[in-house]
Amino acid sequence: MKKIFILLLGIMFIVTGCTQKENNQDSLSKILQRGKIIVGVKFDTKPFGYMNQNQQLIGFDVDLAKYISKIILGDENKVVFKQVTPSNRILALNSGEIDMVIATMTITPQREEVIDFSIPYYIAGQAIMVPQDSKIKSISDLNRKKVIIVFGSTAEDNIRLRAPEANIIGFKTYTSGYSALKQGRADALMSDDTILMGFTMADKSLKLLPQRYSKEPYAIGFKKGQDSSRLRKKVDFILKDMRASGELKQLKNKWVKY
Ligand code: GLU
Repeated sequence: MKKIFILLLGIMFIVTGCTQKENNQDSLSKILQRGKIIVGVKFDTKPFGYMNQNQQLIGFDVDLAKYISKIILGDENKVVFKQVTPSNRILALNSGEIDMVIATMTITPQREEVIDFSIPYYIAGQAIMVPQDSKIKSISDLNRKKVIIVFGSTAEDNIRLRAPEANIIGFKTYTSGYSALKQGRADALMSDDTILMGFTMADKSLKLLPQRYSKEPYAIGFKKGQDSSRLRKKVDFILKDMRASGELKQLKNKWVKY
């Protein structure tokens, strides 16, 4: 009886010891052990992360994820892509569902309180998209107008600040916001110029107003804390190298055609 008890105790010790060891691994070790990087990207944000006609996921952020995978795991095809939206990407990171977010995500002080960021890899600016025949000329004209934003995006805060009387209509994704504008359910859509130009380039019934209302430095997001520290430093190193070698510029030339 005593022997069985000691044996059981031993097994328990080994089992809990093992799981503890796994839990203790930081993000980078987990990636190396699993041989895959799980990256949150957008699926509807041309030209950063979107589905082409053949249902292939492509874009600037997608290529960036592949490049990081090539450096960390020696193969650009070791990325598992998961779809994120502006309103669920922070939760997806902090719950451990994904290792990093590469999704046109701006560094902001509020976000820095809940997640960690890499150095920036792209600078966008906020703009306003309206129908071609619209009388709206600037952000102050948006007061008492219906303005579309995507929930959880930086435009949501900015519009409340700069046009406090605007009637804000929120959507979960950019494609649903775009459709609503097309159907005349609102007067304007506010977001980053990069994303809006993805729409206006393909659809001449809409235009972008010339002014920019913010600076949006895009960076890669990580779960907050020590666990991600080595991974974040590694990614910073990769980004610096991509900047120095011209690789980042090449990505910009490939995807951002304006
Ligand atoms: N860059 C902005 C943001 O991080 C808008 C794009 C997006 O929603 O991903 O909120």
